[in-house]
Amino acid sequence: MKWRTHTAIAEAIAEALGLDRRLRRALSSGSIDPDRYPDVTVRVGRRGRTYVARAPHHNPGLRLIMKHVWKARKSYLKGDDFEALRSLGRALHYLQDMSVSKGILGLSHDSKEDEVASLSVPVKVVEESLSSAFCSPHYVEETIKHVRPQKDAEKALEEACRASGSIVGAVLGRKNPPEGLVEEFTQARRRYWRRTIPVAATASLLFLMLALATCNTAAALGAASGYVIQLLDRKYHYLRKEVEWYSVG
Ligand SMILES: [Zn+2]
Repeated sequence: MKWRTHTAIAEAIAEALGLDRRLRRALSSGSIDPDRYPDVTVRVGRRGRTYVARAPHHNPGLRLIMKHVWKARKSYLKGDDFEALRSLGRALHYLQDMSVSKGILGLSHDSKEDEVASLSVPVKVVEESLSSAFCSPHYVEETIKHVRPQKDAEKALEEACRASGSIVGAVLGRKNPPEGLVEEFTQARRRYWRRTIPVAATASLLFLMLALATCNTAAALGAASGYVIQLLDRKYHYLRKEVEWYSVG
């Protein structure tokens, strides 16, 4: 996506939020930062050698985007709105690039980005997504996962605006946890330590003893079952992430 489009979406969001000039600039420049100061990822080459490469913009991966989202959220909770908006801008850049279809071999890509840049930002879509956003890291993850590259220029811009607004709304949402969340997490944590962990540890131990008794190294791999079992305590892991979103618990 063209810089013009990235900054136009940032402007529309800033306008809807009523941000001052300094914060407006933080969001705008953050939105083009990945092109100026690229994120890097570590890749493994053909001969098993690792190398550092520029993170792909049209398929950056959930983890990279979430890294910036979490950074933004933590800054926001600390009251550092400037850093929060700058990190948010970075996350938005990737979402916006993901909204535009690359086409076969990327041939039609440049002309499509030109076409997107010629359109005006649908302010209504921005406003609606900002106000209907849900303040939760799971909501943010789902939103990112649902971004689909659009072939039609107008649809691509709409997709970019919808996802961007939703994420900004979620990150800059309430600072205090919703009622009952901390209590619910405390209960889940108690169950996790009293039930899940003992079951997981027992499973691992049984496999380990079996491996020793039979001298079967394959059975030793079963020791990892404990790790898998504790992952199955979905409720605990879900709530732990929710609680972290508010830096409590
Ligand atoms: Zn880009």
